Amino acid sequence: MFKRIADLKADDNVGKTVVLKGWIHRLRKQKQKTFIILRDDRGDIIQVVCPSRLCEDLTIESSIEITGPLNRDSRAPEDGYEVKAERIVSFNIAETDYPIGEYQSEETLLDYRHLSLRTRKMINVGRVRNSLLKYSRDWFYAENWMEITPPILVKSAVEGGSTLFKVKYFDDVAFLSQSSQLYLESMIYCLGPVWSITPSFRAEKSRTIRHLAEFTHLEAEAPWITIDDLISIQEKLVFNLVEKIKENNTAELDFLNTTSKIKLERISIPFEKISYDKAIDILRSKDCKIKDGDTNRVIEWGDDLNIESERELTKDRYNPIFVINYPLGIKPFYVKQSDVDSKTGMAVDLLAPEGYGEISGGGIREDNLEKLKNRITESKLEPKDYQWYLDLRKYGSVPHGGFGLGMERVLRWILGFEDIKDVVLFPRTMSRITP
Ligand code: ATP
Ligand code: MG
Repeated sequence: MFKRIADLKADDNVGKTVVLKGWIHRLRKQKQKTFIILRDDRGDIIQVVCPSRLCEDLTIESSIEITGPLNRDSRAPEDGYEVKAERIVSFNIAETDYPIGEYQSEETLLDYRHLSLRTRKMINVGRVRNSLLKYSRDWFYAENWMEITPPILVKSAVEGGSTLFKVKYFDDVAFLSQSSQLYLESMIYCLGPVWSITPSFRAEKSRTIRHLAEFTHLEAEAPWITIDDLISIQEKLVFNLVEKIKENNTAELDFLNTTSKIKLERISIPFEKISYDKAIDILRSKDCKIKDGDTNRVIEWGDDLNIESERELTKDRYNPIFVINYPLGIKPFYVKQSDVDSKTGMAVDLLAPEGYGEISGGGIREDNLEKLKNRITESKLEPKDYQWYLDLRKYGSVPHGGFGLGMERVLRWILGFEDIKDVVLFPRTMSRITP
């Protein structure tokens, strides 16, 4: 029976003959001896030493099975384990022009992402992604939220028409979902607090280090909820995710960014809450500029917070912050108008520290039928596309709210990466849809 490298090391099989299956990650041929770094299907590596006569035809990324005794040798990389191969069987001898080597441009690595996923960086990213998905699911199940699987082919925009991807739908047109929120809203009447994790699609036309055309969207919605509840749910969820990753993904964090763990150690709850008004005051006191047509001017009340202003607000912090009560005009049609100030909407965004900015957006939804209809028309959307959604306000409307968290945004922040493309396996952007 073959073993995985992690099991072999964990059970300490030193002295025993072991069988391993994997790929040749690195290869150094000498006259007598050949040194192989073998990578198994979980991405772990181990050094294999074998007589060069057994290795003549072997190449990088050839898939092989090796048999031999496990030894410990302090010169071997990674915990000093080493296998002395006595037998090697190959499944496939890889062609010699394997395009991924030690020094490649970022673009080349992206062009060959189907192969560069085998690099140790991407293996470690893949592991943390897996953990983040698992810990999110664990948290929602423990808190008794129900998971749903909403449709991706939809007729109605959630975030505005300019970022919609249109698809031919038989003799009609449909769109790829920008958010599952409207569908989650329909479920709170019968399943209570619900959540989903789906791909969301946005035709983001500006190239930024935090926007993808397809991203992994975790969304949640609950009836009879206040803005304070929403804040506290997100605080608990995000803090729990950070704690779990910190506890269980030390090896990956250390490999990817030696300072990641230290910065996660400093995070504590509660996260600070500031109003949008206060955010604008802070930004104005720092003379923060925004682009307005061809000119730059100082940010003012009514402007949306963009990447630069969010960076300014968060760059000197190590804890995330919530920004609440945005102007209604810069938020989508479904955001509930404040009862105390008609110019503001009951929206809340969560901004990650150290300049990373928005990781989640949410708020209380407009539950008044007339107000919602007006907001749909004002937003230049087609009321007929929202008939079914308006029904939710006709038949037993209740105060409710929710949020959407971008998993890649969370990963980018936790791992301390600059570019969001590095935390997704096959990034989709304006200029890239292959591989
Ligand atoms: P931004 O202002 O950064 O464009 P948004 O306000 O459009 O974000 P929401 O519509 O509130 O974002 O979506 C909820 C969450 O989904 C965001 O907080 C973010 O984490 C994530 N998200 C949104 N758009 C993208 C994208 N293009 N790529 C990756 N993640 C995204
Ligand atoms: Mg956006």
